[in-house]
Amino acid sequence: MTTGFARLPDASAFRLVDLRLPACLIEGEGFPADRDGLARVDLAIADCRIAAIEPAGASAEGTVPVCDLDGGIALPRLVDCHTHLDKGHIWPRRPNPDGTFAGALAAAGGDREANWSARDVRARMDFALRCAFAHGTAAVRTHLDSLGDQIGISWPVHAEIRAEWAGRIAVQASPLFGAEEALDPVHMAAVVAAVKAHGDGLLGCVTYMIPELDRALDILFRAAIENGFDLDFHVDESNDPAARSLERIADAALRHRFEGKILCGHCCSLSLQAPEDEARIIAKLREAGIAVVSLPLCNMYLQDRRAGRTPRWRGVTALHELKAAGVPVMIASDNTRDPFYAYGDLDLVEVLREGTRILQLDHSGPGWANAVARTPAQVMGIEAGVVAVGARADLLLTRARDWTEFFSRPQADRSVLVAGRAIDRTLPDYRELDHLMGQTS
Ligand SMILES: [Zn+2]
Repeated sequence: MTTGFARLPDASAFRLVDLRLPACLIEGEGFPADRDGLARVDLAIADCRIAAIEPAGASAEGTVPVCDLDGGIALPRLVDCHTHLDKGHIWPRRPNPDGTFAGALAAAGGDREANWSARDVRARMDFALRCAFAHGTAAVRTHLDSLGDQIGISWPVHAEIRAEWAGRIAVQASPLFGAEEALDPVHMAAVVAAVKAHGDGLLGCVTYMIPELDRALDILFRAAIENGFDLDFHVDESNDPAARSLERIADAALRHRFEGKILCGHCCSLSLQAPEDEARIIAKLREAGIAVVSLPLCNMYLQDRRAGRTPRWRGVTALHELKAAGVPVMIASDNTRDPFYAYGDLDLVEVLREGTRILQLDHSGPGWANAVARTPAQVMGIEAGVVAVGARADLLLTRARDWTEFFSRPQADRSVLVAGRAIDRTLPDYRELDHLMGQTS
């Protein structure tokens, strides 16, 4: 068992003193931030909850035990709003043959058809959530491949997993299928029925430039409006500037006067548009109230890959420009150890660290911690991702005193508090999945 560096008092009421919180993640005013956007505070914990947030050293010695964090950065438990739990960890039996997007599509599809029984999907989803929990994640939205017989397999498993993980990780799912499938009424009826029976009020698909794109989007928007669903799309995961389905989603949202939440993931080709096209599309996103999640690790892995040629492009969307225009922006894990991304462990500290480097989030003002905390929690419609009086004491504690210390090491010795208690941070052993890896390949 490992609970990280912090030696927490064995008491229901205690104080965490002298920690640094990103000011953007504190609910409340009066916490001056340093140049890193970090505020020094003391937290009172009582009965699993945060009872008080005060400037560090402000209150007199009390009678409760104290844990001195010595200026270390703390975060609320984090929120991962774009993952693929159903694909996770299949790499040993189905690697990507050449590291390309086409290779990923073919390999993942082949593995799904050969191996994705309820037992297989359940074991890998649970494994992935145990990783996320140990790293300090409070909520996960996964996409579920939703084609043919897989709909009847994965969605009931999702509902069971969500119930089992309630109170530890809030799990949501959104259906994933190619936009052209929306034109098939039988398919759409099956997906909508699965979402109603087992889902979380979320509908979505993968969008790219098919001739019938507007018609497919109309079908999806109508289904969402009829059923009160929010929408979540995979958009333009491509280096082709002609890939502009993002704009068509914004047009559809405006055309339907859609009032639910819309999250668009990837949007890679937005960053390859001419400046006037990029500005027009971003303005439409803002007008339509669409939020954008970038998946920097997966994009960097798949985009601009060609054998024998050094990649020139980082693959990520125009996140700074979106943020500057007032579009809610975030970053997330995406795939883990599957043909779309060979690595990853659903660790949002890693995602924030690598996202900071890949997207150059540094030197662009404070507040980027929102991208793995407050903003995705708002998009998911859950209470998480902030430090607030009265909220459950769910925290991630580190020894790092500023962002250079935080991002220079993996924070493997972090402590994770859930309801005021340090959890066991032991990661599950990959060997647990070995019995699933000998299947058809
Ligand atoms: Zn994805």
